[in-house]
Amino acid sequence: MRGLMQDWPLLCHRIIEHAAAVHGTQEVVTRSVEGPIHRTNYAEIRNRALKVSQCLDRDRIKLGDRVATIAWNTWRHLEAWYGIMGIGAICHTVNPRLFPEQIAWIINHAEDRVVMTDLTFIPILEKIADKLPSVERYIVFTDKAHMPQTTLKNAIAYEDWIAQADGNFKWKTFDENTAAAMCYTSGTTGDPKGVLYSHRSNVLHALMANSGDSLGANATDTMLPVVPLFHANSWGIAFSAPSMGTKLVLPGAKLDGASVYELLDTEKVTHTAGVPTVWLMLLNHIAANNLKLPHLRMVVCGGSAMPRSMIKSFLDMGVQVRHAWGMTEMSPIGTLAALKPPYSEFTGESRLDILQTQGYPPFGVQMKITDDADKELPWDGKTFGRLKVSGPAVSQAYFRVDANILDEEGYFDTGDVATIDKHGYMRITDRSKDVIKSGGEWISSIDLENLAVGHPAVAEAAVIGVYHPKWDERPLLIVQLKQGQSATREDILKFMDGKIAKWWMPDDIVFVDSIPHTATGKILKTALRDQFKTYNFPTAAA
Ligand code: AMP
Repeated sequence: MRGLMQDWPLLCHRIIEHAAAVHGTQEVVTRSVEGPIHRTNYAEIRNRALKVSQCLDRDRIKLGDRVATIAWNTWRHLEAWYGIMGIGAICHTVNPRLFPEQIAWIINHAEDRVVMTDLTFIPILEKIADKLPSVERYIVFTDKAHMPQTTLKNAIAYEDWIAQADGNFKWKTFDENTAAAMCYTSGTTGDPKGVLYSHRSNVLHALMANSGDSLGANATDTMLPVVPLFHANSWGIAFSAPSMGTKLVLPGAKLDGASVYELLDTEKVTHTAGVPTVWLMLLNHIAANNLKLPHLRMVVCGGSAMPRSMIKSFLDMGVQVRHAWGMTEMSPIGTLAALKPPYSEFTGESRLDILQTQGYPPFGVQMKITDDADKELPWDGKTFGRLKVSGPAVSQAYFRVDANILDEEGYFDTGDVATIDKHGYMRITDRSKDVIKSGGEWISSIDLENLAVGHPAVAEAAVIGVYHPKWDERPLLIVQLKQGQSATREDILKFMDGKIAKWWMPDDIVFVDSIPHTATGKILKTALRDQFKTYNFPTAAA
């Protein structure tokens, strides 16, 4: 027997419709790419998103067509998301930090018909435009006054474009499993792979993000997503904030410590989300200028492991942290380290131990860890295994890749190695390709990196496995020191000694001027492995 409830497809534009109806005057504030602070609200965003839909429809963009955005977090970009999805077209967010050739590859693979972009990225696009045959026109997120001369095909300023519509238009209706958005993974090996979110997965993911133990913001809060709209579905914030009526503060093109601090302060931001690199810049700015964060209550941090020292710095300022793990293929939320019983009672170092884990999954994400033979491993907080996940907002395939990516039970292998404890708290110990295999045992490169950055002179640390004649691989610690600070190999080894098992201690430390990063801010270990492939340990003869 079927239930007698309404067939109410979970479509993304229902979120902005709800926000306009119930939280219409709630503000969306942007540091515009042109410079000044811009203020609008959810009712306005919805009205202008409808104009985007109307213009695209008039331009014959149809259900399933791809429309790319290469843009910062701004109100116009948010309107474009809802406008594109509102007619069943697919909003393809492109990461502008990729190399131009990768951007061209991705746009061609997706066969984007329209590209919407910011003033910042016109020069990059002009250089590759003749290699993008599917693109019919470019829409620049600006107004007539700021629109430059450009060779981009059929280019028009966004404000001029939507001025051609009267907004008398209705969102389209279609099946909730229709594709809504697309984001390519920035894999360090092989071609990028297209993750295709559906309307249903985005709406369900927003509901997962909305709980107090997830992103933790409500209608009385203000959220500043430093995480870009082009990175992993903006961690769902573009859907979750309007669905709850949370005020949004969008940082535009300026993500340095001083600019982020200024917005946090002047807009009285209560919640913010971003990768550790961003928080490092913010904390440095705060320390150098002796500042405080009186309004901020929660920093959500993910994308890479959040170092213990960083967690402590925020706690010392009275700001809660929520360490999160996820990936593009998971929409992206996987786990969040909110404190629940019995850990909620913990204090001091043991509380920090839990806050430093990647946390437990919200309802809607299932996890397991397995060995190389696919046998499930226990949740004892000690046994490492391959982390696999399933859920309604987890990928089952990549766009135009004919390969099965799920195991027999329908789980997706994340490529991460993790432990899970009996309360469901997961701890990433490594990427499966980064784990150091020493004498048949595994050493976690992430644990060593976290420990090393706790040294006051260390800005950033990376650990790679390097060939060793006796042990196969041993850890090499690569360190970038803070500007104007000094520390020797012995200082750092002494600092680490006693805090980890003896056999985990790095065999050597090398100092570098800078550690390379991927386009999404992760340490680029392939480049480091390449750089140090002929390296010999001083202990190698032992
Ligand atoms: P992406 O799809 O670019 O967001 O990358 C996802 C990958 O980033 C995951 O599979 C992890 O390897 C890594 N990652 C994300 N969050 C964390 C975290 N909190 N700690 C450690 N690694 C993380």
